[in-house]
Amino acid sequence: MCKWSSKPRSIDDHTARSAESTAYNWGVKRTALNADLHCHSVVSDGTLEPEAVAARAHANGVQLWALTDHDEIGGQQRARSAARALGLPYLTGTEISVTFAGITVHIVGLGFDADNPALIAGLAATRGGRRERALEMAEGLAKVGIHDTFDGALQYVGNPELISRTHFARHLVDTGICDDTQDVFRRFLVEGKPGFVPHRWATLRNAVTWITDAGGLAIVAHPARYRFTPTEEYALFTEFKAHGGAGVEVVTGSHSASDAARYADTALEFGLLASRGSDFHSPDESHTDLGTLPPLPAKLKPVWEALGSRIDRPS
Ligand code: AMP
Ligand code: MN
Ligand code: MN
Ligand code: MN
Repeated sequence: MCKWSSKPRSIDDHTARSAESTAYNWGVKRTALNADLHCHSVVSDGTLEPEAVAARAHANGVQLWALTDHDEIGGQQRARSAARALGLPYLTGTEISVTFAGITVHIVGLGFDADNPALIAGLAATRGGRRERALEMAEGLAKVGIHDTFDGALQYVGNPELISRTHFARHLVDTGICDDTQDVFRRFLVEGKPGFVPHRWATLRNAVTWITDAGGLAIVAHPARYRFTPTEEYALFTEFKAHGGAGVEVVTGSHSASDAARYADTALEFGLLASRGSDFHSPDESHTDLGTLPPLPAKLKPVWEALGSRIDRPS
């Protein structure tokens, strides 16, 4: 088992950690490590089993991996075992849905104790409204003539507690209503469209606290995707930091080079660690495959420097 006895080291402990970890040779400059700390399996809205995600990460040259299913840690044990069998260093992960200023924000958690009761309960509560929401989404779609989408979407669900918009999107593509999942979201599943149902997710404070109290680090996922005003975005990072948030995803599948440059500056401005993850969901849908992102900008402190003691390293 992993050693959960101590809190993660602060980034200032990096020098001590480097000396201590010479037995494990990362082989690359620390910001250039091929870490992929954001991706999904069938335990949320990905299409691969956790073992297949592990194998794909390993085959693609990933050197440090975390499976980060939405609002769920049910795949962690399988992911960690698969990573261990492949000799792939592993961090526990999740991606928590949060509502902030009326907008859904995703908070990635890394390196927590997956047996922590408050985290487990918090994630279960966050998942709780998904079935009702999905039934309402199906009602909205029925009103525009698209029937039986609840049962349709359910066919794609790997985890009955985790029915998501992505499962509706797959169903609408496979029944020929839309060309691809992007098309479904644009036409039916975003705010103002017939299948969109507003939802109250976890609070920012709760999500950050669940992760941090379980010994992990909280990271703002893909910040360029949120439609905040500059004032709201400033408030997001200020409050995130005040609650104990530790990092920001700078390099991720949905970020352009200029997005990465922008959030590299945000990391420096707010004193946040930087994370990197593809947000891979499926070989057929994801533009960015596991392990294929550009490196983090060298001026940033990577989140894995502060998580050394949390990494499950193959012996
Ligand atoms: P949910 O948690 O049910 O609201 O679903 C959110 C998920 O939908 C995200 O994690 C993405 O996987 C997916 N998603 C959101 N927006 C889009 C989009 N524009 N195109 C494709 N997938 C999307
Ligand atoms: Mn997703
Ligand atoms: Mn996300
Ligand atoms: Mn994600």
